[in-house]
Amino acid sequence: MRVALLSDIHANLVALEAVLAAVGTIDGLWVTGDTVGYGPDPSETLALLRERDALLVQGNHDRAVATGEGLEYFHDRAAQAARKHAQWLSASERDELEALPLTRALDRFTLCHGSLRDPLWEYVTTTGAAGATLELAETPHCCNGHTHVPALFRLVAAGVTAVRIEAETPYPLDERTLVNAGSVGQPRDGDPRAAYAIVDTKAGTVTFYRASYRVDETQRRIRARGLPEMFADRLAFGV
Ligand code: ZN
Repeated sequence: MRVALLSDIHANLVALEAVLAAVGTIDGLWVTGDTVGYGPDPSETLALLRERDALLVQGNHDRAVATGEGLEYFHDRAAQAARKHAQWLSASERDELEALPLTRALDRFTLCHGSLRDPLWEYVTTTGAAGATLELAETPHCCNGHTHVPALFRLVAAGVTAVRIEAETPYPLDERTLVNAGSVGQPRDGDPRAAYAIVDTKAGTVTFYRASYRVDETQRRIRARGLPEMFADRLAFGV
């Protein structure tokens, strides 16, 4: 089974469309949270994922847009965008976001947004944090997001190691691993292209990719919809 692993789409429909075009025919679409927040097209992004039978978990932005919970932890402009999304979405779209599970076990993988210790809010950037999540996992592998930076942690007998990621290089999933595909809609690793990964469950590999998209079109929509300028500006730099 070839599965596309996506995270932190953040209502960037143009980036999502580019990623789906780049991945081509796939057997599954897994999304590790923050489908909305920041970007211009929350409703259209949710609709496209629904049409593609994507399996989602809830991120902190999804929860805040759906319920208002956690808005107090957002910086002003992020909260402003979340409030706008809440207004733009229908009640049934907000219900759909509210009903998303915090974690989801699929095959040999558990999906979450932040971590298994704190599915909505923890940023896993260290081997210690990655190890804590892998210890809690009831499956060999975990997939998360939230940091907007692609990452691969591997748990072997000697402990957890962070793997240096090269794009378009298959990494084996034979040990216990934690995979963060990076962000489709708002990358923060200095590369403005949309990030995603492909998990090949039969070959037991994960491969990281980047897809170019029309950043200027997303920026235009962000400005046209009256979202904070900062969310348009940063897309050009991937920060
Ligand atoms: Zn996010």
